[in-house]
Amino acid sequence: MDTKKSNTGWSDQELEASVDGYLKMLKLVSLGQSLNKKAEHEVLREGALSTRSLASVDYRMRNISAVFEILNQTPIAGYTAAKNVGSGVVSRISRMLAQRGIVASQDNAPTFDDELLERRAAKLQSKPIKTKPEGIAAPQQVSTTSTSYVRDPEVRAWVRQQAAGICEGCSLRAPFNLDNGQPFLEVHHVKHLAQKGSDRITNAVALCPNCHQRCHRSSDRDEFTAGLYSKISRLIQE
Ligand SMILES: [Zn+2]
Ligand SMILES: [Zn+2]
Repeated sequence: MDTKKSNTGWSDQELEASVDGYLKMLKLVSLGQSLNKKAEHEVLREGALSTRSLASVDYRMRNISAVFEILNQTPIAGYTAAKNVGSGVVSRISRMLAQRGIVASQDNAPTFDDELLERRAAKLQSKPIKTKPEGIAAPQQVSTTSTSYVRDPEVRAWVRQQAAGICEGCSLRAPFNLDNGQPFLEVHHVKHLAQKGSDRITNAVALCPNCHQRCHRSSDRDEFTAGLYSKISRLIQE
């Protein structure tokens, strides 16, 4: 084999062997065992990586560390993430990691932390959400200094995306835009979470602050809420 090709044109089989080798080492490290990289590389070179140099195997491991970082996962400390890894290699390695259960740390993971929820929702909202989120039928109650509920950032993001900057209560434009350019609308649970309402798109609306406060505090809040149910077809009475 042409030696100049020793670091290009890796076959799926070679890449998979590298990924498996990496995950094996990751496991050793997580179990607190010391890592002999060279010995591990030699094992790989006795198998699928027989045409690759030690340096080339090491570089491939550093590619995998780079993909770990992209996925917000902690790589093996001994392999500094390689810079400027080609997108083709990144997507092949990502796919192989996903097949082995290593996926991007979840922006859509439910959380009770308001700030985190908002950050995740804002991030999700910046790209079209293609499928209606499942949401959480019975949000788990969490005791902090104040009572809060675990909510799904994707539900929040989807509902705001549907509203597209128009309050679903009064049909007026959101009163202002945030620094990130997104229109300011608050997501309200029509049947309140405290009343055991669900965190689903069938129970959530995007409202301007006036309409939101009206739902909670106004003397006509029951009539106003009834109006939301008749106006917004996706809502389901709980
Ligand atoms: Zn409104
Ligand atoms: Zn509310």
